[in-house]
Amino acid sequence: MGKQRRDVRSEDQWRVDSLYLSLKEWEAQFPKWGGEERESKWPEIGAFKGRLGEGEEVVKEVIDTLLCIERKLEKLFTYAHLRQDEDLRAEEPKKALMRITSLHYEFAKETSWIQPELLQLDEERLQKYLESPLLLPYKIYLQRIVRLKPHTLSQKEEALLALSGNALEVSRRAFGAFNDADLKFPEVEDSQEKKRELTHATYHRLLRSKDRKLRKEAFCAMHESYRQWENTLSELIFGQVQNHLFQMKARKFSSCLQAALFPHQIETKVYTSLIETVRNHLSSLYRYMQLRKRVMGVEELHLYDLHAPLISLQEEEISYGQAVQYVKDAVVPLGQEYQKELSFGFQEGGWVDRYENEGKRSGAYSSGCYDSMPFILMNYEGALRDVMTLAHEAGHSMHTLLSNRHQPYHYSHYPIFLAEVASTLHEELLLDHLLARAESKERRAYLINQRIDDMRATFFRQVMFAEFEWKLHSCAEEGTPLTPGLLKREYKKLNEDYFGPGVFIDPLIEIEWARIPHFYYNFYVYQYATGISAAYALFEKIKKEGQAARNRYLRLLSSGCYEFPLRLLQEAGVEMLKPEPVLSFIRHFDSLVQELDVLLA
Ligand SMILES: [Zn+2]
Repeated sequence: MGKQRRDVRSEDQWRVDSLYLSLKEWEAQFPKWGGEERESKWPEIGAFKGRLGEGEEVVKEVIDTLLCIERKLEKLFTYAHLRQDEDLRAEEPKKALMRITSLHYEFAKETSWIQPELLQLDEERLQKYLESPLLLPYKIYLQRIVRLKPHTLSQKEEALLALSGNALEVSRRAFGAFNDADLKFPEVEDSQEKKRELTHATYHRLLRSKDRKLRKEAFCAMHESYRQWENTLSELIFGQVQNHLFQMKARKFSSCLQAALFPHQIETKVYTSLIETVRNHLSSLYRYMQLRKRVMGVEELHLYDLHAPLISLQEEEISYGQAVQYVKDAVVPLGQEYQKELSFGFQEGGWVDRYENEGKRSGAYSSGCYDSMPFILMNYEGALRDVMTLAHEAGHSMHTLLSNRHQPYHYSHYPIFLAEVASTLHEELLLDHLLARAESKERRAYLINQRIDDMRATFFRQVMFAEFEWKLHSCAEEGTPLTPGLLKREYKKLNEDYFGPGVFIDPLIEIEWARIPHFYYNFYVYQYATGISAAYALFEKIKKEGQAARNRYLRLLSSGCYEFPLRLLQEAGVEMLKPEPVLSFIRHFDSLVQELDVLLA
């Protein structure tokens, strides 16, 4: 039996009581409407329905009211979800979370008329609102809505589109139910004939094993399981792509890609040039594959050989306190103020829920809301990987903290396109710091190898996914049905292209697309690759230019969504419309591979 939540020392827990002292107090703050069923829960907003054309005072009042309620709901939600994740078996937080989630939905439904009503107003009136001094605090907020006008339909048509929403989501939901609940995997056997459990959670651990038979068995069993369902799974993906195609046509976009990127003002060129640049430099990945093959001493390098560490090093256990010290020392280039703030959060500030306990959510994340400190959930075990995770999540937390501090509520949420920048920049800083103090060749090689494998997974692999996603949608746009045959052919070909002649492309890989949930997210994964490239570009600038670059970076972290993400990056000195950030990231990868080669020679 592991540790129970009640036995966890309070200094090892996050300080959720800074939000509400207890669920009882949360309950007291939960909005109540008396016993009777009522049609509208927020009549103070409904009262403005049909009146948005009356003038800027009305518009301001609606937005004020909307944001004020939203902010309170967000705080209630944050507390409930943090408490739930402390122990997923606990009934009280589960109930609280369900209640606030459904209230959130109701709120979204009840306020869903606002945006369409604004967009039905004529150009002239909208322009007047945009220039109104009274609405100045909401100017960018409104601009963001107004730019959707060319892709917004008449009120009747919009109502019809809204009605289709639930039906169009079925493919994604069906895949989720299949993948998370219905699909079961067989047990696999290691070279000692010991049975091992195969699940989504154990798969990556098994692939990192030194036992080659176990890796192969896990890889084959995983993909065989999906292959049995290839017809169903290709229909599900087809259904999701048809959803995107429908939205794109209805809203008069020229492609699904454009439709997905438009709301955040990301030009499709960012996407296409990312793929093009990586395509032109696949030899970098090939070189690493060759090195891997040589060091592993295998006749054929299989796809199930790509995750096993090349160097086995007896890792010393790193205490949480030591990990904190590492990260603190690593962020020195970001300035004293930054370091102090982070250090406080890690320790007496109570941001981090450090160790595992029975029932606690696995993995790691950073969360929080406008009216809270940032919170980090971890299951810290003392491995180097855990120190990386702490650094990563702390990057998210500092981004949240600074954006909340410097922006009003409605500009505080940073966009997804920027979400992984601060976290991967922290990782770069930590690696840099650890390399500088690595006392042996082995340790240096070990650190570099781990980094290279992470870069392969978060950069090259994601770009390959992005290319596949683009291909799927292009086929659908041309009217080509997505049959299992086509999906497997295209996916296999991408693997051959990306891994090159040095890797044996195991035939089963052709079905891998069927198990990747991200293909249901609508052009999401490329942001991992752009995020990590942008982070590296910023890291290089901070290292080279010092304070000026650091200040630009801190301004980026303090900007929330005050501007569109490409503009914010540009102001920090990174031009994502040009290939340079991606190229310099690939050069970084090259130089790490080269160094590893020398170290292992
Ligand atoms: Zn992250």
